[in-house]
Amino acid sequence: MNENIKQDIETLVKLQETESQIVRLKAVLDKVEKQKQKIGLKIKTYADAFEDNQQQLQYITKASKDIEMEIQLVDDQIVKSNEKLRMVKTNKEYQLLLREVDDNKKRKDSLETELIEYMEQKEQLEKVVEESEKEYLLLKEKIEAEQNEIDQQTTEDKKALEAYLNDQKQIGKDLDPGLMTRFSRISKMNKGLAVIDVKNEVCMGCFMNIPPQLFIEVQRGNSLISCPQCSRILYYDNQ
Ligand SMILES: [Zn+2]
Repeated sequence: MNENIKQDIETLVKLQETESQIVRLKAVLDKVEKQKQKIGLKIKTYADAFEDNQQQLQYITKASKDIEMEIQLVDDQIVKSNEKLRMVKTNKEYQLLLREVDDNKKRKDSLETELIEYMEQKEQLEKVVEESEKEYLLLKEKIEAEQNEIDQQTTEDKKALEAYLNDQKQIGKDLDPGLMTRFSRISKMNKGLAVIDVKNEVCMGCFMNIPPQLFIEVQRGNSLISCPQCSRILYYDNQ
């Protein structure tokens, strides 16, 4: 057996041990992150509702102010017309002004009715805004607490992942960069499993038979052999 190859295989096996842990921990943390995001989506619905209600309230508030201003204008016109009425000379002018005052009073009445409706809507909306804000803040608090709890539960996993990544870096220093690249590439292709043993001419990664001659070569350990099916780097463990 070639000593260099033997050493490479030992290093690759160690590298694989850390790689398997890294892949496992990343999957766990990824799942947790998705769970956190999913929980977070619930807030959005409530935040949107709260914002919509606020916008509607702003609209109604502006609309009622506009009506109040219009009522003021109509009022001014009525006052002016009444002043003119006292100074008119002809009956025709008098009738004309009377009608103007009458029209403006009708206009004012309808505006005031409209204003009352707006005020009622505004009052209702203020309650809705208050309610939806309460609901939103309550849920936000609850969800943030849930997310914090999830974060705390993953503290250990995050630390472990960090440690395995460091280990892998240290172990990788003993490998030829080309071989390291080969390892990473095969790992990516095979869900994190790049180095695997062969038992009874079967690759334990893909469970396919390898040709007998190749099995002999793996046992001899004079070169690094890849599985013809799954490309994983093969080694023979005679224990
Ligand atoms: Zn295979």
